Amino acid sequence: MPEKSMAIIGAGLAGLSAGCYAQMNGYRARIFEHHGQPGGVAAAWRRGDYLFDGGIHFLMGAPPGQPLFRLYEELGVADAARHLGLDLYLNLTDETSGRSVTVTRDLDRLARDLRALSPGDAPAIDELIAGTRAMQRSGFLDLEMGRPRELGSPLAPLRQLWSMRRALRLFGGKFALPVSEYARRHVQDHWLRFVLEGLFMPEVPVWFLFMILGLLAEGRIGLLERGSLAFARDIEARFRELGGEVTYHATVARILVEGDRAVGVRLEDGSEHRADVVISAADGRATLFEMLEGRYLDAATKERYRSWPRIRPMLMINYGVRREFPGEPWERILRLAEPLAVGPQAVSLIGIRLFNYSAHFAPPGKRVAQVAFDADWDYWHGLREQDGARYEAEKARVASDALARLERHYPGIAAQVEETDVATPHTTWRYTRNYGGAYMGWMPTPKAIMTTLPRTLRGLDGFTMAGQWVVPGGGVPPSLYSGRHAVEIACRLERRRFTTRT
Ligand SMILES: Cc1cc2nc3c(=O)[nH]c(=O)nc-3n(C[C@H](O)[C@H](O)[C@H](O)COP(=O)(O)OP(=O)(O)OC[C@H]3O[C@@H](n4cnc5c(N)ncnc54)[C@H](O)[C@@H]3O)c2cc1C
Repeated sequence: MPEKSMAIIGAGLAGLSAGCYAQMNGYRARIFEHHGQPGGVAAAWRRGDYLFDGGIHFLMGAPPGQPLFRLYEELGVADAARHLGLDLYLNLTDETSGRSVTVTRDLDRLARDLRALSPGDAPAIDELIAGTRAMQRSGFLDLEMGRPRELGSPLAPLRQLWSMRRALRLFGGKFALPVSEYARRHVQDHWLRFVLEGLFMPEVPVWFLFMILGLLAEGRIGLLERGSLAFARDIEARFRELGGEVTYHATVARILVEGDRAVGVRLEDGSEHRADVVISAADGRATLFEMLEGRYLDAATKERYRSWPRIRPMLMINYGVRREFPGEPWERILRLAEPLAVGPQAVSLIGIRLFNYSAHFAPPGKRVAQVAFDADWDYWHGLREQDGARYEAEKARVASDALARLERHYPGIAAQVEETDVATPHTTWRYTRNYGGAYMGWMPTPKAIMTTLPRTLRGLDGFTMAGQWVVPGGGVPPSLYSGRHAVEIACRLERRRFTTRT
């Protein structure tokens, strides 16, 4: 079959994945990336001695032998994905009451610890553990996304329902409620509500917690020893090895359309690049409303972009410190006794991530400590646009106030900081163009997470979408699969046989 060209917008994980599968299937693929490095939100940046990693916390489905591992092998990240086993998932601590719980792979220990902290909630605790165990038995933890829904037979959803029949109860009834709602109705103790909400996000369905805890218990999630950027760079290397080309600092302004067919891209610098097929793995809103000028939108898509909640943007502070944190949990959610004043917000929940599990992020005797919390897009974006000096000053003030809070838990840390870096929601947007700083796309509400979004647009040929805006909730495996699916769909439209071999 004659070689055809493909233009891919975005060198995030989805765009890189699409590029690899495109090359495997006989396309000549070129990726156009806005930023100067691969990875998108799976980002890391160097400051002095330190590598600040602002992306992936843990990788799902990584150990060799897992079904997902084949995907990692195909994309050249089998080594990067050969992760550090994760025994400890998270510690949750409440400063006011002093109550604290550490979530590990040991579900019996978790049940015991939670019951000790909140004896009146034994029924809800038992339900959490029983649900997790049932999820372990269900087969859902393979996380394989198979073929794109668009290419399956019309009976495929029915077949899937049939195969799920024994586990359906896990996804329905009260387990389909958002965790916050479930906790409000079924959990008495405020502390336990905080624990359940902190296990992931308050908005996810309860069954999502079963899935996370099940993956943890099975040893199917791990930490990336070399971090997010190395993971992305390995896929980029695979793409280049397959013959693909990446152009950085190349921001796509428009998708070129002729006779209702995508025929290439125009960059912000005015240059035009023709291609037989276009895949956008960039921000969904920018793709649909700006690059395609809103021309191929149906009512459901418009409504989704009007009303669906997005992931709350984040403010992240990285401290490079001249110390280690032996024995400290790598991840902690802290409920502050006194909220932190940040713009219009009173922040009472902060995440603390200590990069004490790998020597990759700092030289011996030094470590990175990271603080992150939900932040307000309008405030930070507005401040940056209106008054750059005040924006910088406010970043420095917040970093200093947050450090003072860490002092209570890691005495001496304030005097040991050598480098500080603050990334606001505006920073996320500046480097990745995700709308409103929504670093994982749509909020994984029960409705969003159960919805299969279309990847092609009615009336437009030669165009497919990939990335976290077409797989609600994002995440590494879904984003990688979305890139593969976009190429599978393109192949089908052109009557090519899809292959994962080179
Ligand atoms: C802090 C953090 C922690 C996370 N933790 C985990 C985790 O533990 N486990 C997990 O599975 N997932 C995690 N994720 C989510 C996961 O990393 C993302 O869902 C996934 O990487 C998204 O990839 P993507 O390619 O779809 O999108 P993006 O990374 O947003 O990539 C889009 C790319 O398109 C480029 N682009 C945008 N507009 C244009 C344009 N006009 N022209 C050219 N290029 C453009 C951007 O610069 C970007 O590189 C985390 C994310 C973050 C931020």
